[in-house]
Amino acid sequence: MQLLKDRIRKDGTVKAGNVLKVDSFLNHQIDVELLEEIGKEFARLFKGVRCTKILTIEASGIAVACVAARYFNNVPVVFAKKSQSINLEGDSYVTKIESFTHKRVYDVIVSKKYLSSDDHVIIIDDFLANGCALMGLADIVKSAGATIEGIGIVIEKGFQNGGQIIRDMGIPLHSLAIVKSMDDKTGTVTFMDEE
Ligand code: 5GP
Repeated sequence: MQLLKDRIRKDGTVKAGNVLKVDSFLNHQIDVELLEEIGKEFARLFKGVRCTKILTIEASGIAVACVAARYFNNVPVVFAKKSQSINLEGDSYVTKIESFTHKRVYDVIVSKKYLSSDDHVIIIDDFLANGCALMGLADIVKSAGATIEGIGIVIEKGFQNGGQIIRDMGIPLHSLAIVKSMDDKTGTVTFMDEE
């Protein structure tokens, strides 16, 4: 998605440790107009795909998922919560996710009330790096007996292996911008489908 790639080049900053900061339009301050375009693009890419729910993970996925839902017949958005204490009451699906940016493991929960075997789920998130977040969300969908219809990612870091893992699982994955390389010394970002 050219608009997004242009924006990453203009306003994104590259930090040491392979972290791309996009706080000025996606992860802290949010450009809602850009999110509208992102939502429309996901709807175009997943046209004709059955979707009863969008699943994401707090915090940064929520805004993207909510705007996207407007273009998926206003299906409900469910976000997985990062739980401080393990909730073992049996009323939630629980999985563990290792955070790429914070380098720690979270228990992540979704209430059984909001995901069932009847659901056809599109997972949406802001970033794909090593795939831990998506593997956790996929695990939750599997626990619910629901169907994963596809995954939509705003920014995939193509030099990390999460995308490969998800594609090898046969899950349709659409990433709107795939970063090929980035350099924290020069601030240069290159994308997959460009020279
Ligand atoms: P993964 O689980 O695929 O390794 O990482 C995905 C999650 O880590 C995303 O939900 C996102 O919040 C965070 N993340 C991974 N890489 C980056 C990055 O380069 N920049 C930002 N802002 N977040 C990232």
